Amino acid sequence: MENKALRKTVFLDRDGTINEEISYLHKVEDFRFLPHVLEGLSILVKAGFQLVVVTNQAGIGRGYYGEKDAEVLHSYLREELRKRDIFLKGIYYCPHHPKGIGAYQRECDCRKPNPGMLYQAEWDLLRGNEAEFPIQSPYRLSREEREALEQEHKQAERKAWLSHSYMIGDKILDCEAGENFGVQPILLATGYGKEEKKKLEEEGKPCPPYFENLEEAARWIVERELYSS
Ligand SMILES: [Mg+2]
Repeated sequence: MENKALRKTVFLDRDGTINEEISYLHKVEDFRFLPHVLEGLSILVKAGFQLVVVTNQAGIGRGYYGEKDAEVLHSYLREELRKRDIFLKGIYYCPHHPKGIGAYQRECDCRKPNPGMLYQAEWDLLRGNEAEFPIQSPYRLSREEREALEQEHKQAERKAWLSHSYMIGDKILDCEAGENFGVQPILLATGYGKEEKKKLEEEGKPCPPYFENLEEAARWIVERELYSS
């Protein structure tokens, strides 16, 4: 495989980060962008980042709604963003849950804080030339493929790519997924963010860079990139 230099990437959680947090959101009519999200995403796109959404959708695993519902919602999200010249390179969701039903009951590699969806994106980004990935379902890399990925994506290039990439979310588990993958995590105050920050403080744990909203986070990222090589 040729060594393709990957474009720096911002991985984004969905609920509470891009749109209002609603328990088990699965209907387009309940979807609302949070304030400052469109501004923030535009800033990132203009700064040359590609955007990938990684979202835990345990509601599928628990049987509250189906993969089809998630995909309809994701098509809507993608289309609404496209109208504003914001292009989502990939959308990945984890439908599993340890207490899920049937085949969805799994201790999977993709449910954040596990980094499987980010690995999946890396795998696809390295291979894909198509402008747009299909909306992705679950993590489907085998252990062998994941090992091959780390071999193929040459260490120095991978390191450089990771060091200019970010994971933004409203939960500690988003930040942990970013850390587990090797990118800079960012916590937002939106969604569950305020409670999550308090939790970290109570536990005496360090908080990742923390911002009121996605636009502030985007501005910080762009500034940080200006001063890092
Ligand atoms: Mg969230």
